[in-house]
Amino acid sequence: MYEKEYLLISVKHLQNNFSHLYIEKNVESYPLTNLAIESFPKATIIWIDHYKDIFNRGGQDFQNQKATMKLILAKKRPPFLYPASDMVQEFGTPNAYYNTPVLNCLYNCEYCFLQGMYPSGNLVVFVNEDDLKNAIDMQLNDLNDPLKPTVVSVSYNTDLLAMENILPLTKSWIKYASTKNNLKIEIRTKSALISAIKNLNAVDNVILSWTLSPELICERYEYTAPPLDRRIKAVRQAIDIGWPVRLCFDPVLLIDNWYEVYTGFFDQVFSKINVNRVTDVTLGVFRMNKDYFKRIRKRDTRSDIYYMDYSVEGNTMVVNREERVDALNQLSLYLNKFIENKKILVWK
Ligand code: SF4
Repeated sequence: MYEKEYLLISVKHLQNNFSHLYIEKNVESYPLTNLAIESFPKATIIWIDHYKDIFNRGGQDFQNQKATMKLILAKKRPPFLYPASDMVQEFGTPNAYYNTPVLNCLYNCEYCFLQGMYPSGNLVVFVNEDDLKNAIDMQLNDLNDPLKPTVVSVSYNTDLLAMENILPLTKSWIKYASTKNNLKIEIRTKSALISAIKNLNAVDNVILSWTLSPELICERYEYTAPPLDRRIKAVRQAIDIGWPVRLCFDPVLLIDNWYEVYTGFFDQVFSKINVNRVTDVTLGVFRMNKDYFKRIRKRDTRSDIYYMDYSVEGNTMVVNREERVDALNQLSLYLNKFIENKKILVWK
């Protein structure tokens, strides 16, 4: 039933989305611009001066726009690279960064911070990919700790692989990373679209990270993304091809009976995925910048996630410390049945 609903949502999205392309006049000649125009031949093209004229307008309704997203093609201006937020696990290196090739996501998870971060539900693709790549090249010569690895997350404010049949951005980042021996790229996804990159050889310094959640959470809070079994299938295919794979159990949502729900889920995942072929796993509870949280709660009351008990720590809304440390300790201990401690990266 859920699988059917997901497919209907996907088809509806493809039919409704991108009826309009808003394109900055200064990106007319970029290859990605031409590709997008060819991909949506029936779309109405509107030439604009600056993407923010559309994306940052006042009075937009994020959720209404998500139902019929428009595509905006623009040129990214500096900064091209950001230090990794303290909201993510640091992967044991101070040289951790993220960039934003795309703003917003084809999916619409109820706990997603993008709803609070951006005024618009439309999708922005920055077509000047080379500028983003050059910025990484420059950073590689100016690292916080040159003896430690450098990790760049290229799918932090989006789900890049989910878009691969529309614009081949994942392939482009994989090709770039394959020419660097002192850089790791992380591509985080909930997509099942591993087929879109099946013709590429696995690259050791590209980590494909799948966010996996119990079926109950997928149905309740991630219903526009592929169901759990399709994600697991994609993970297995990626491992078979030889990709380094990270599993992200994040955010853990402390719903009723969370311990039973999550331990049953771990049993299910590791009965289907060969844990010896998994690079590592991440674990963390729901947390969000408090301004984004307030904005979402003010303008969209559809989700019970925004009415649970949280504490404010610095600038972050998060499950209170005692409760989350206890939950994460219990879940780490259970995960230890399958995977050694040093491969479990916990955000506490
Ligand atoms: S897949 Fe990630 S980026 Fe996309 S809506 Fe869900 S949480 Fe947000």
